[in-house]
Amino acid sequence: KRQEVDVSVHGINPALVDERAKNVVATLQQAGYEAYIVGGAVRDLLLGLKPKDFDVATNATPEQVKGLFRRAFIIGRRFRIVHVVFGRGREHEVIEVSTFRAYMDNAAPAGQVKGNERTSKSELAAMTHAVDASGRVLRDNVWGPQDEDAARRDFSVNAMYYDPERELVVDYHHGIRDAKKLTLRMIGDPVTRYREDPVRVIRAIRFSAKLAALGFKLEAKTAAPLVESARLLADVPQSRLFDEMLKLLQTGHAVATIAQLRALGLSTGIYPLLDVVVERADLPFVKAALQDTDRRVAEGKPVAASFLLACVLWNDVRQGWQQRMQDGPGGQRAMPPFPALQDAIDEVFESRIGDVSGRGKLGADMREIWMMQPRFEKRSGSTPYGLVEQARFRAGFDFMRLRADVGELGEAIAEWWQEFSTADDLRRQDLMDQVR
Ligand code: ATP
Ligand code: MG
Repeated sequence: KRQEVDVSVHGINPALVDERAKNVVATLQQAGYEAYIVGGAVRDLLLGLKPKDFDVATNATPEQVKGLFRRAFIIGRRFRIVHVVFGRGREHEVIEVSTFRAYMDNAAPAGQVKGNERTSKSELAAMTHAVDASGRVLRDNVWGPQDEDAARRDFSVNAMYYDPERELVVDYHHGIRDAKKLTLRMIGDPVTRYREDPVRVIRAIRFSAKLAALGFKLEAKTAAPLVESARLLADVPQSRLFDEMLKLLQTGHAVATIAQLRALGLSTGIYPLLDVVVERADLPFVKAALQDTDRRVAEGKPVAASFLLACVLWNDVRQGWQQRMQDGPGGQRAMPPFPALQDAIDEVFESRIGDVSGRGKLGADMREIWMMQPRFEKRSGSTPYGLVEQARFRAGFDFMRLRADVGELGEAIAEWWQEFSTADDLRRQDLMDQVR
């Protein structure tokens, strides 16, 4: 079953391989362990794409890996891995190192433990096979041989191993063949694999959207159970679904992802907020935001989920805001603009985002983007000076820019702010005089 192919077959360009990842593999190999670049990075390399991050897989345990690097941290509970950190500050880079894991079938009883000869006692204690009644894997820290590690991965093109030293690709599940055929195929029986982990439904959409540009198609057997399996997502923790939704929207293929969701009959039912995104994807403002996100990823610029979600939910905020500034039918008095906006935002968080809005920064950033909007329309006094100094000014400005693009705001206002934000003091005074 194990296939080893050299560069004449896989054609990977070594220049696309990250130096740090190579360094991690070399260090592990020199210490006597097996080590490979694995997963999405091998897939992307094989397709001639530059991987955005590199994962390494090894037969060394997390403790053994940690011992080999100066800055390495064991993280995760459900899935213990090691982060090897290079560089500092904004430039730092993390190589994720995971230990080969055993494949667990549905029959594996909860609490069963099996280690390899190098597994320490404390690690054995940390390892459990936990599978719930529906076959969902709850904890996944049972080390195993490489072939089992390959079998528990999702798609054949995600299950290859690359040794950058010898320039060899190890392939157990016809990943190379499928990559050449431009096929996204689930390893094993798709129905069972979706049941084990329903998030694979979302991953199928993510990768098929990402690879659609290259001409990839979902294999029929992999695609067939998607709609039926999506119902199982109801049992997945909301926070994991929220994270997966963000990944869907931030891979640089958000527009393709929405097309894929619709084509597969999954426009609704994955996650409530995602339903809203799909429903509104064709509104000019939301469409512009999705395209903008994709463009930024393509240009290698950072993207913020807060910005995109702020765009998606702006309609609700704006409506609630307008309503509160008018006298209500039930005799409620009109609220002044700022409290009205604040109150409208609270309601939108409550109804659309719910619990996960507790994840601090994202919600705070969205709120800030929205709260800045009325201030863009006030170009007098000290408001403009204060606004440009705000830490999140850029996001608020980009948001306002999009509003102007779709005609919600005068183009002249957007241009005025564009100039004001980059001008020196003298020019700023000029600009202020213009609008007086
Ligand atoms: P990306 O380029 O978007 O990071 P990726 O393939 O690297 O894609 P990750 O989520 O980083 O995806 O996961 C790394 C690898 O781990 C995958 O390629 C796959 O082999 C395996 N994997 C991750 N999540 C799952 C899952 N839910 N089920 C099975 N295998 C998974
Ligand atoms: Mg990855």
